[in-house]
Amino acid sequence: MSTIAILKEVQAFLDETHHHFINGQAVSTANTTFQDVFNPATGAKISQVAVATTDDVNKAVEVAHAAYKDQRWSSLRPADREKILYQLSVLVEQHAEILAQLETLNQGKSIHISRGVEVGGTVEYIRYIAGWTTKLTGETFDVSIPVPPGTKYTAYTKREAVGVVAAITPWNFPLAIACWKVIPALAAGCTVVLKPSPETPLTSLYLAKLAKLAGIPDGVFNVIVGAGAEAGQALVEHKLVRKISFTGSTLVGKKVGTAAVNHMAHFSLELGGKNPMIIMDDVATDKAIQGIMMGSFMNSGQVCAAASRIYIHQKKYDEIAAALVTAVKGLKVGAGLDETAQIQPLVSARQRKSVQHFIDQAKQEGNTILYGDQPVDQKGFYVSPTVIGHVKPDSTVVKEEIFGPVVVLIPFSDIDSVLAEVNDTDYGLAASLWTDSLDTTMRLLPQIEAGIVWVNVHVPLDPAMPFGGVKQSGLGRDFGKASVESYTELKTVCIAHT
Ligand code: NDP
Repeated sequence: MSTIAILKEVQAFLDETHHHFINGQAVSTANTTFQDVFNPATGAKISQVAVATTDDVNKAVEVAHAAYKDQRWSSLRPADREKILYQLSVLVEQHAEILAQLETLNQGKSIHISRGVEVGGTVEYIRYIAGWTTKLTGETFDVSIPVPPGTKYTAYTKREAVGVVAAITPWNFPLAIACWKVIPALAAGCTVVLKPSPETPLTSLYLAKLAKLAGIPDGVFNVIVGAGAEAGQALVEHKLVRKISFTGSTLVGKKVGTAAVNHMAHFSLELGGKNPMIIMDDVATDKAIQGIMMGSFMNSGQVCAAASRIYIHQKKYDEIAAALVTAVKGLKVGAGLDETAQIQPLVSARQRKSVQHFIDQAKQEGNTILYGDQPVDQKGFYVSPTVIGHVKPDSTVVKEEIFGPVVVLIPFSDIDSVLAEVNDTDYGLAASLWTDSLDTTMRLLPQIEAGIVWVNVHVPLDPAMPFGGVKQSGLGRDFGKASVESYTELKTVCIAHT
């Protein structure tokens, strides 16, 4: 075992009682209630956070709206906003180990993922998006308005900050997903109220402290922690919120979209998936195994883009299934702070129960567990990595998002007929195709229904690559220029002159 020691700064932050972060300050009232935050590796309480009521939400939105109206942020020169966002990335980098340990202690994930993806990826993401601050442009038009005779016209569009943004984030990548929303909103000149999942709020609260240190004016970035049913709903229904950016389940995403339309706010929804990996018969077994281990088991499968349906050409099926079982058997299950562990606990007892239920259902529906479903430490929220073989196409585990360390293997013989099965899902977030044949790739790519299709790799994201789903996997895109533009309104200006 090689468990890292917790930094004293991390312990001090855990020992604090965390309040809402509104107008640059920790805020609570005499009536504020608090809830416990747990370490998924032990089930023990590690910190406590204030629970937002509708009044707290209203206050945060009003503060953000006042900050938007007086333009304390949007009127800064774009280059100055870029500099401040860049400074935030520097502070995140300087506090990298603190943030990584907090994320691991609160979410359960491997310290390697916390360091590399949550923190390292976030530093690069902030820098990439900060660069867009100075590059948002409109268009100019040659217009043909004929009256009054002799009048000339100059017309153009300009991108203006949309206003107050509500960012609602889930528990699987708390810091990274918060930044996917907060940073482009700030780059566009908006003000923000962030509501993280109450299960994993700690790095969002730490980010708020760093944002203040970086020079983001008070009131521009606010964080409230509270239950979705009360605080989340109050936030998305608030009439002063002009854009909602949500990542989570399809069920809640639909409620969020409906609330947004009711007061004509913009919205983007990233709603998870049931993502296929298609492995053709020309793929080397070790390459396929590497792809599945990375695509399916990263973050213990709690990844919206995780590969959870593996379609394997029957010529390679037995070999790949056997090699996968060997690889999964070798995975070390342990706490996120154990640098040698490869599968960590799930985020909560609730999530463990949900994933275990899917495994039990797979067995009841007559499927074969090739490996997994082993007894696990019941104090932490562990589920053993599990491989289910020769799965029947109508099984629940083929249809529903599991969000845990469980892969489902399905053999196929004819790619054209299996494509119908691949696309026979309500979801359409991500997919990957594995083959050495360029012709097969180019023929199949247009037929795969997904927002992102990887070829010979599964799961890497880049700040420049738009990310989001089709069908029930959502609307809109995070990342890239399109994401920053989605936090703006397009204003058309038409000037008559002689
Ligand atoms: P939810 O969709 O329930 O929650 C996501 C966020 O939305 C949380 O902050 C939640 O707060 C909030 N929320 C809940 N209800 C409302 C509401 N009415 N209005 C506004 N905000 C609300 O996801 P879960 O965390 O419950 O996870 C359930 C399943 O969703 C997972 O098992 C997985 O399948 C999927 N999921 C998908 C993710 C993705 O990346 N697309 C990420 C996480 C989960 P609260 O937690 O208090 O309810």
